[in-house]
Amino acid sequence: MKYTIPNDNLQKHECPLAVIKCVDFRFRTSDQEFVEKGLGYTDFDLFSWPGAAKEVLKLNGFKTSLVEKIVTVSRGLHGVKKLLLLWHWDCGGYGGSHAFASQQAEEQQYTKDLQAVRDILAKELPDDLEIVLAYSKIVPQGLEYLVLE
Ligand SMILES: [Zn+2]
Repeated sequence: MKYTIPNDNLQKHECPLAVIKCVDFRFRTSDQEFVEKGLGYTDFDLFSWPGAAKEVLKLNGFKTSLVEKIVTVSRGLHGVKKLLLLWHWDCGGYGGSHAFASQQAEEQQYTKDLQAVRDILAKELPDDLEIVLAYSKIVPQGLEYLVLE
C-alpha cells in the first residue's frame, strides 16, 4: 500500500514553539486546535508522553533526555522561542479525575505541578526560552484551555 500526502512544510527549517503534552488520544485533536487556533501557532515541535512532562518531577533520565532533545533539536535545529507545557483534565498520569476530591483540587494539583516542572526545566534550558503553562478542563461545551500567568 502507498499513501501520498501533499506537504508544504518540507522546505521550512524553523518553528517558533515546542509543545509537550500527554499521549492521551482523547485530547489529541483538541490540543492541536488549541495550539493552532487558540494560541496561533501552526508550526510547532511536538513531544508527547504519558502524563506530559509530569515525570520531570522525578528528576530522572526522562528529565535529562527531554532537556537534551529540547536543546539540541527544538532549540538547536528549529530555533524555537517558546516551550508549552500542556496538561489535561482527567489525566491517567494522576489516576484520572476521580483521584481528586474536587475539581478545585485537580486544578490546584495541575497548577502546582506545571509550575514545579517549569522551575526545574528553566534551570537547564536557555534563559531566553520562554516557558508557557496551560491545561485543559472538561466543561459542558467540551474542553476549556487555561493558560497560566
Ligand atoms: Zn494524560
